[in-house]
Amino acid sequence: MTHFEIRAKDGLARLGRFTTKHGTVKTPLLMPVVHPGKSVIKAPELVSHYGFQMVITNSYIIRSHERFRNIAVEKGVHELLNFSGPIMTDSGTFQMYFHSLPDEEIDPLEIVEFQKSIGTDIGTILDVFSDPKVGKTKVEQDMKISLERAKLSVDMKEDMMLAGTVQGGSYPDLREISAKGLASLDFDVHPIGGVVPFMEQYRYADIVRATLAAKKHLPPDRPVHLFGCGHPMFFAQAALLGCDFFDSASYAKFAEGGRMLHPTGTIHLDQLNELPCDCPVCSNTTAPEFKTLDKTERDLQLMKHNLYVTSAEMRRVRQAISEGKLFHLAATRARSHPALLEAFRVMMEYSQIMVESDPIGKTSSIFYTGSETVMRPEVVSFYQRLYELYPYRNTNTIIIVPDNANRPYSESAGIIIEEVRRRKPEDLILLFLTPIGIVPWELEHVHPAQQGVFPETTDSLSLEVVQQRLHKFLDSISFENLLWFRRNAATNALSDSFKDSGKIVIVETASDLIGGIDDKPDEKQDWIKRKLRAVLTYQWGPEVASMVNLEGLSIDISRSTGKIRHVKLGSEIIFTLVPTTGLFTATYEGGFQLLKHDLDSKYIVRLDDEVREYVADGKSALAKFITHANPNLRAGEEVVVVDSSNTLLGVGKALLTGREMIAFQRGVAVNIRHSKKS
Ligand SMILES: [Zn+2]
Repeated sequence: MTHFEIRAKDGLARLGRFTTKHGTVKTPLLMPVVHPGKSVIKAPELVSHYGFQMVITNSYIIRSHERFRNIAVEKGVHELLNFSGPIMTDSGTFQMYFHSLPDEEIDPLEIVEFQKSIGTDIGTILDVFSDPKVGKTKVEQDMKISLERAKLSVDMKEDMMLAGTVQGGSYPDLREISAKGLASLDFDVHPIGGVVPFMEQYRYADIVRATLAAKKHLPPDRPVHLFGCGHPMFFAQAALLGCDFFDSASYAKFAEGGRMLHPTGTIHLDQLNELPCDCPVCSNTTAPEFKTLDKTERDLQLMKHNLYVTSAEMRRVRQAISEGKLFHLAATRARSHPALLEAFRVMMEYSQIMVESDPIGKTSSIFYTGSETVMRPEVVSFYQRLYELYPYRNTNTIIIVPDNANRPYSESAGIIIEEVRRRKPEDLILLFLTPIGIVPWELEHVHPAQQGVFPETTDSLSLEVVQQRLHKFLDSISFENLLWFRRNAATNALSDSFKDSGKIVIVETASDLIGGIDDKPDEKQDWIKRKLRAVLTYQWGPEVASMVNLEGLSIDISRSTGKIRHVKLGSEIIFTLVPTTGLFTATYEGGFQLLKHDLDSKYIVRLDDEVREYVADGKSALAKFITHANPNLRAGEEVVVVDSSNTLLGVGKALLTGREMIAFQRGVAVNIRHSKKS
């Protein structure tokens, strides 16, 4: 039984809902660490004043103190904390490590039993925390002991949810073994353990490697908890890596040391002449006043500041996921500290795992943040599809028109477009050379080709990627002539690499460019069908491209933008182009036509016949009723939903990947737009 559902995705991040016996919480979330005796700010206040939803406390501390233990055992941990919301408990793993306690201090199975007996919502196994200074052999031994304990603990959990912690230190291969082992057991949450020393030493890159190694093998329907990460400067990046739960003891620890947490780093109060923060604490005092408070009061106010700031950053992360802008937030935060930037660059080396999780058909603008922008998952994904699915591979002439800041591109190349429209793809192909790489004229409206906001000048690292993409694409096309329109200083240099080909002609004006094209226009060219074929192929694969020649097919074009609006068959609309994504949505009849034209099985989702009528009525297709989805299906794709005999029930947008559709038992898999009866 899983308790997690996904509402939106961005990169590896998930905007989710996690249901416990004491309520449902929104993820990603941060749990403040609460000490049953010491915490001055109590659990109910953390919810009402600061917007937290769940807290974490330590079962080892409760068990070790008689007064806490007695209340917890008799009345439950919720009574002990005077809190009716969800509570997670830790097992004492970190205390064992931090205080070098002997092995017999905590019995790994007894502590699981204890957590169950006090009614915690999510308990945690007692694993072995490896000191980063020990060698790989010891880390491997610790990881194996943790895995053995996990196997024994999970059998005892009954109706308590249990967190199985991934260990393996800074060794991705050990993290993979640990994650694989835990994935096969019936856990509910997977903490990434042992990262506190990495956090303290700013070894964020090691956390990235450890997290991604684990994510590769963990079941997608279980939340991942970055155990011990409470600093807001890393939330955006960790969420982008697919971490759903965070916990913070830092809010109190940092306050005790006079330190203020900020999303851009840590600042010591003593260094401040001004308070660079708009939380209620900082808004109601000044730096000099703050410093004069006695230690107890100052610590309390610092703690409050730290809670406000961390809570706000987590809300910012959730908002960014819902808008498809988490990459931008993480890239911005990465500029706060070189170690974060290093981690961000390490993350970019694993771009494929992010591409597979990132939804297709985003609508958000892409603001340039630096050279990593051209490697964003939606951009990498665009090029992977383009190389594979651009339908026109033989031509006489290729025109290259650099275009950096004029969108839509075609508006800055009006008379050139006129010429292209009059010719077949076999005669002429037009490519815009943009800050992310080449964009064929036919696909200029597809996200993210035209949604970028870039500076006039292109940095040299991005330019290298642009050049690679240009060459890779041109290598896949057979052509005789290359006409290069020189009008952008940065990209002019890229034309040099074609000098020896004997095919390139450099032109400096649009009229020279047109003069250089062989004069055999064919006025009867149906240029809009040429675009339609390219978009259909890009979106659903080459099988459906033959639809372009259907008897009775017509295309409505927007007079103001020149973009396709609708595709009709007879008088009935079959596809509508979404202006922000440049991709189609299908009507029910459109879904029928797609199936009739051998739509790639990747875009067909099959459902249990039991809910056939429900979906035919226009209700969402729920994950638990999906019987077949292609593991390579990406979230965000427009799919058709069928029953066991392949009868069309509806068409809509996939909210999950194919792999997630099969794994999840909760939540919507496909949002149905049109169905048999609606
Ligand atoms: Zn503040």
